[in-house]
Amino acid sequence: MKLKDKVCMVTGAASGIGREIALTFAREGGKVAIADLALDAARATAAQIAASGGLAMGVAMNVADEAQVNAGVAQVARAWGGVDVLVSNAGIQIVHPLEEFPFADWKKLLAIHLDGAFLTTRACLPHMYASGRGGSVIYMGSVHSKEASVLKAAYVTAKHGLIGLAKVVAKEGAKRGVRANVICPGFVRTPLVDKQIPEQAKALGISEAGVIKNVMLKETVDGEFTTTQDVAQIALLFAAFPSNALTGQSLVVSHGWFMQ
Ligand code: NAD
Repeated sequence: MKLKDKVCMVTGAASGIGREIALTFAREGGKVAIADLALDAARATAAQIAASGGLAMGVAMNVADEAQVNAGVAQVARAWGGVDVLVSNAGIQIVHPLEEFPFADWKKLLAIHLDGAFLTTRACLPHMYASGRGGSVIYMGSVHSKEASVLKAAYVTAKHGLIGLAKVVAKEGAKRGVRANVICPGFVRTPLVDKQIPEQAKALGISEAGVIKNVMLKETVDGEFTTTQDVAQIALLFAAFPSNALTGQSLVVSHGWFMQ
């Protein structure tokens, strides 16, 4: 029970990687707030956790909306007495060649990834400071926090930005025991990636199998997707790590696609 009684907020946890992190944290004794645009799906995950003896709640939240973020974090803190762990995970992907990238799509992607990370961090930090216990802030970066790919100007920019934010939170939070780190997964088979496969096939003029083999997994050491469970184990490590020894870091979990 590495997270016994810790209050954990995971954004974008109604699906994919966030959902797996929520399930993992609940198994480790955490009280898990599943914050997502998709409230019904968030509540379904919370019900699944409750059915296996854990504690969870679904929270309606657009992470790019200041008022919704503040209200959602306040709701969780009121219910469970604070917030100990934040996983800022909600994200989307939009691909276009740079010279055609619609400004509205650029702004939408940056708002969800960067405004969302900023707003949720700003709302959770006072609770971590007030408790005297500190806390752990975890950002869902990507190999694209370190590397670039064609068609992904907005995503690569946003994911690089999260590393800067984590370093500032690590410095500002240290005195009060708040740590901040970034997880950088390679491709994980979730709805976000399933949507990209036909889009990239069309944009690059190759088959869908070709996108998987020659674009997504080409640089891995073994041609394998990273799994949601792989990423959830790294999130658990960062969430439960007990000191400032591990802060301001970014850890790549990608079957060797990117090596530091
Ligand atoms: P997913 O599409 O399965 O899940 C994303 C979740 O975020 C959904 O439940 C969606 O409703 C929610 N969401 C989207 N916009 C939101 C908003 N404005 N406010 C609140 N919730 C919102 O995607 P995933 O693959 O699990 O991705 C999760 C995170 O992992 C993202 O930040 C993504 O960039 C990152 N990531 C994914 C991969 C991958 O290969 N799947 C690799 C590296 C990083």
